[in-house]
Amino acid sequence: MKLAMIGFGQAGGKIVDKFLEYDERTGSGIVRSAVAVNTAKADLLGLERIPEEQRVLIGQARVKGHGVGADNELGAEIAEEDIDEIQGAIDNIPVHEIDAFLIVAGLGGGTGSGGSPVLAKHLKRIYTEPVYGLGILPGGDEGGIYTLNAARSFQTFVREVDNLLVFDNDAWRKTGESVEGGYEQINDEIVRRFGVLFGAGEVGAGDNVAESVVDSSEIINTLAGGGVSTVGYATESVETSDSGGGLLSRFKGEDDDGMDSANTTNRITSLVRKAALGRLTLPCEIDGAERALLVLSGPSEHLNRKGIERGRKWLEEQTGSMEVRGGDYPIREPNVAAAVLLSGVHNVPRIKELQQVAIEAQENMDELQRESEENLEALVEDDEDELDPLF
Ligand code: GDP
Repeated sequence: MKLAMIGFGQAGGKIVDKFLEYDERTGSGIVRSAVAVNTAKADLLGLERIPEEQRVLIGQARVKGHGVGADNELGAEIAEEDIDEIQGAIDNIPVHEIDAFLIVAGLGGGTGSGGSPVLAKHLKRIYTEPVYGLGILPGGDEGGIYTLNAARSFQTFVREVDNLLVFDNDAWRKTGESVEGGYEQINDEIVRRFGVLFGAGEVGAGDNVAESVVDSSEIINTLAGGGVSTVGYATESVETSDSGGGLLSRFKGEDDDGMDSANTTNRITSLVRKAALGRLTLPCEIDGAERALLVLSGPSEHLNRKGIERGRKWLEEQTGSMEVRGGDYPIREPNVAAAVLLSGVHNVPRIKELQQVAIEAQENMDELQRESEENLEALVEDDEDELDPLF
């Protein structure tokens, strides 16, 4: 499907930049337009692929291009005040050519965390196209303020978008890695997973014809109904018929077609299980997910309808959902991949934990604030109250 992507804040901008790189590399054509919005000038300058005229610096009067410093209430206020400047960049998007908007942001910071829900609300009021969010949860080691920001933003963002796709940095963090190096890999993972998913509805002319195509409307229908979504992914390398081992596999195919097709079916069903039961972008219980979409990609000789059907049935059993869609997406790459979108998930212990830590952080901050006022008063006022202030 074709998306207008808006990267809000530093993480959002970097990830949209990466989606453009993914598009260039794979020819998937999912980013029809890209916009970056930030209160920090330096972050906008650091982007590589988002066109300069599509980078919007907001809040100049308030923070002079220096960012909001993890204050997401300020981030939300600035987005409201400068919504016309953001709309100026959105006006350059040929909206009739897109299937949906996707707002991408790290929810633990200030600019994207506060601004994204404001922008989602604005876009939904003006356009009929769906507005999705891709929200990144902070790592557990980032500290209380980031957790509190994320919990408040998550609550607001879910309400304002047609669906919130979530990626949890905490579930993907590797110990002993520098934060920057870690983000590089995490961002690759984000773009690969959501890229395969959104790319499914974009099979262009000259590509192999899929056995059962996934089109944009199926992605939209899976996301419709709102709530929170997570994505699973698994891949396995295979030989393509025009690679080195191709001759052998072709002979085998002629000799023993039934065996090959059974292998293909088994590979697909096992990939679907691995994708759904392995690490999800937002770890959760898949039982109870309201809707699901299964996308199989790979060389067409390694895809078959039976495998997809079995995978779909298995997902129906596991989720208890009656709305499991599925299809394939032939690409010339030496691997078969399964992406599973689970939409409307409810049983998410990570969110409950995030909220708990956020509540504690808020109470601690209120307490510290009270103590700080008392301490300052004790310092500044003389004991017997004999001094008078000037005014
Ligand atoms: P903002 O610029 O004020 O919106 O804040 P940032 O985007 O810098 O940071 C918000 C949160 O996003 C942080 O707390 C991190 O959890 C996360 N984050 C920052 N940079 C990246 C990144 O490159 N990739 C990922 N996955 N997360 C990031």
